[in-house]
Amino acid sequence: MISHKQRTRYSRQIMLPQVGEAGQEKLSAARVLVIGMGGLGCPAALYLASAGVGELHLVDADTIELSNLQRQVLYKTNHLKKSKAQVAAQQLQAANPEIRIVPHQCMADSAWLHEHLPGFDLVLDCTDNMQTRYAINSACRELRVPVIMASVQGFSGQLVSFDFREPGSPCYACVFPDTGEEPAGNCETIGVIGPALGMVGSAQALEALKLIVGLPLGSLNTLQLLEAEFLEWRSLALGEERCEACRQRQHACHG
Ligand SMILES: [Zn+2]
Repeated sequence: MISHKQRTRYSRQIMLPQVGEAGQEKLSAARVLVIGMGGLGCPAALYLASAGVGELHLVDADTIELSNLQRQVLYKTNHLKKSKAQVAAQQLQAANPEIRIVPHQCMADSAWLHEHLPGFDLVLDCTDNMQTRYAINSACRELRVPVIMASVQGFSGQLVSFDFREPGSPCYACVFPDTGEEPAGNCETIGVIGPALGMVGSAQALEALKLIVGLPLGSLNTLQLLEAEFLEWRSLALGEERCEACRQRQHACHG
């Protein structure tokens, strides 16, 4: 049941026919894991908290540095050297005291994911590290938790979602096979423009809210590519090719 105060707080989305009170109740009941509280995780988690997602877990091992403030919009100058997960949790709790927020100051490696992932409705992968991305992909695929993944370098962003509750779902490794190598640069060496992270992180939150209330996603099995320099979005539907793990999973389902 939605309280009178909640009905007021969320009135502008409850009045949408796509959300309504039933959608708001689904948001209140949802448990979402946000991995990486950097330039994508900050806006994504803020929109999820404000929209009333009932339980948000925030994972980041890092502390806040001066060079983060250009794009990681939850952090202020007086937060330097503090834990990103802890400060983000405080900021989001201030934005919405009605929800439960749990910070985790650690790396989301394979062991951590397998221990903590069961029971979550959704994962937002907001990391900038390929090995963590593959670990998230494998754990979500095995435990059948939907995932919304995003990354931004320079002015270019990408967004893609997989719903592993569907036995035929592809995964990140089907599209980008794991070669075991990190790409040549990351945001520390290549640079990144803040508002592009804001756009893609907001798109991640949008897709998350839609998945929770049961609306179709524009990024499901579809690579959404942003070229912020030209303010242009392109979409690429993923093909039929499947990685070894997905072929085995489908075989097991049919057998
Ligand atoms: Zn796959």
